[in-house]
Amino acid sequence: MNADLLIKNCSLLTPDFEVCHGQNIVIRDQKVIAIEKNNEAQICVAKEILDGKGKLVMPGLIDAHTHTNQQLLRGRISDEYPMIWTRIMVPFESNLREEDVAISAELSCLEMLKAGVTGFIDAGGSYMHKVAEAVETSGLRGVLTCSTMDTGAAIPESMKTTIEHNIERNKNLFDTYHGQADGRINVWYSLRSLITCTPELIQKVYETASAAGTGMQTHMNEYTNEISYCLENFQMRPYEYLESLGVLDKNFLGAHSILLSENEMDLIQKYDSKVAHSPISNAGKGVTKTPGLMQKGVSIGLGTDGSAHSGLSLFDQMKVFKSLMRAFWGVPIFDPVVMPSKSILEMATLGGAKAMLQDEQLGTLEVGKKADMILINIDQPHIAPTHQLTNTLIESANSNDVADVIVNGRILMKNREVLTLDEERIKYESKKAMDDLIIRAKI
Ligand SMILES: [Zn+2]
Repeated sequence: MNADLLIKNCSLLTPDFEVCHGQNIVIRDQKVIAIEKNNEAQICVAKEILDGKGKLVMPGLIDAHTHTNQQLLRGRISDEYPMIWTRIMVPFESNLREEDVAISAELSCLEMLKAGVTGFIDAGGSYMHKVAEAVETSGLRGVLTCSTMDTGAAIPESMKTTIEHNIERNKNLFDTYHGQADGRINVWYSLRSLITCTPELIQKVYETASAAGTGMQTHMNEYTNEISYCLENFQMRPYEYLESLGVLDKNFLGAHSILLSENEMDLIQKYDSKVAHSPISNAGKGVTKTPGLMQKGVSIGLGTDGSAHSGLSLFDQMKVFKSLMRAFWGVPIFDPVVMPSKSILEMATLGGAKAMLQDEQLGTLEVGKKADMILINIDQPHIAPTHQLTNTLIESANSNDVADVIVNGRILMKNREVLTLDEERIKYESKKAMDDLIIRAKI
């Protein structure tokens, strides 16, 4: 058997989220072509071999909701009094230049790679072609989109654009980049939030995305003022409002989806829409009704909400999420297994793949699927020995334990050295861009 890459004698996380030891993984033409027991493996001639001893190979983590545009806002918005939007976000975003977005995207990709993230969904922003370039160079997989706003009292006129311009901008991004970089870049359509988009824009965005056969996303049920806006203006809650506009379907991703009514949960289930929670960011606004959504079979991914709201570590998100779920939903009814580790691992991998609308290709380690995976160094005192590695992954593992990252069968990080990006240059230029931006935006 000929292969591009052979990972020898590793432990691996199966599609059932069980751990299996002494395995070989064979990769060719961007895909997993065989998974075999090391001592029964066929003879394989590989161009490159990774020693998997002491490593757990698992599907790459997928950040189902992030903002590469906000990477240079890291550390700026925690512990701030309201209104963060008008005092910080608006000046920050309206002062972003093309070169800021470029370095911001590179720094995001660098941080994601070092955190074991192999794919992400960007909620959208400006100069998204620069984000596409960073995805292309870094070797990551990304879903990109432009941000759309055409109304709203809290939005300065300079940040609003017409429906036509909103659509045209996103369509240009779609026409140029969808399916590019060996299929690693997908372009979707998005709404910034329901408050900032007129019903006409929402419908037009849906029609355009639908005609292109691609996804659509927005921030949903995140803030009380958004619920209030929908109730006041349309006498409906956010998901009910979207249903009335005819824009809910299986290609719709509602980021956050915190403040949900029973009927809204039923609507998500009915239309097979996807949800992405961002536990650390969400914790300041409410606790997601994840156990209820899981009972309805809704597919749920985990996202970081970008560097301004938390780091880009999904290991951190998983830990916080487990504690939040147990404290909020488990404790009152004494249910210690309200959110099992395996379910959380599933959300951060397969759930993310479903959110990306690519679960046939991504999200689990299986023959025939794309070779997107990470190798975790499990031979460390905070991880080994353990009775149950899946529990320890949630409780003790962190981003620094990710040794190697592979996307599309290509090694992007080896022994924690990122091979596709110049870490020193990116850190230097990011600092410079951040310093300049603070002065320009007066934040
Ligand atoms: Zn967000």
